[in-house]
Amino acid sequence: MSTAIVTGGTRGIGAAVAQRLASAGHDLVLGYRSDEDAAQAVAERVRALGVTCTLVRADLTTDAGVADLFADVAGDQLRVVVNNAGATYRFAPLAGTPAEEVRRTIDLNLTSAVLVAQQAVRSMSRSRGGQGGVIVNISSGAATLGSPGEYVHYAAAKAGVDTLTRGLGLEVAGEGIRVVGVAPGLIDTDLHATTGDPGRVARMAPQIPLGRAGAASEIADAVAWLASDEAAYVTATTLRVAGGR
Ligand code: NDP
Repeated sequence: MSTAIVTGGTRGIGAAVAQRLASAGHDLVLGYRSDEDAAQAVAERVRALGVTCTLVRADLTTDAGVADLFADVAGDQLRVVVNNAGATYRFAPLAGTPAEEVRRTIDLNLTSAVLVAQQAVRSMSRSRGGQGGVIVNISSGAATLGSPGEYVHYAAAKAGVDTLTRGLGLEVAGEGIRVVGVAPGLIDTDLHATTGDPGRVARMAPQIPLGRAGAASEIADAVAWLASDEAAYVTATTLRVAGGR
């Protein structure tokens, strides 16, 4: 038996990752915050692949939300945790971004990722009775681009995620746990519409060296490979999947 947790697993990249991990035979625990219809739809799709799927509605910016995510998972069955939940809320220079929004962005994209990784390590560590496993952190191309004029606070949070991948990967290598990252470029999901600029993907696609936005399934393929035994010698590093950007 093998269980995979995917945060933000009910829409966009997370839903595509859920589908890929279900195809690989993992039972799923999918976290989400509010969109019940999307959650039920993904659960139905993955259950049709023959795996179990537990939905956990939890705001991961709260300690209770992080605890709820792990509450019903047997530690010795947990093999994969995908730290995917993330968001940015508008495009604006930092000076024009409300402080509350800066804090919320860093809370979700960085603090919750660190706390979810902490719980994962506690469950998976061999010295604590776990069986080892893989933590996949979803970063962003923004972590290295810096995204001036758009969302430097989000970029800074994602740079923190890359450092989490590097540092924690080294810290727990002896515990049978790999920690890897995927940094997506421009991916066509709802995230862009929720920032109030729904035309952004079409406008930016020509600037990508490969000439198009990526699909959520292309990020899911990278995550599934990194989470598999084929990537058994890969840890403490982040793979950029960004069409060359
Ligand atoms: P979506 O907006 O499509 O989906 C976000 C998911 O995260 C949803 O399932 C949502 O749940 C969940 N979520 C949001 N806030 C919270 C919260 N406070 N607590 C728990 N869950 C929450 O995003 P994408 O699929 O586009 O993005 C996924 C990841 O990829 C993010 O980390 C993002 O930063 C990163 N990324 C995306 C890029 C892109 O171009 N799309 C580019 C680079 C990185 P619900 O629907 O219930 O609110």
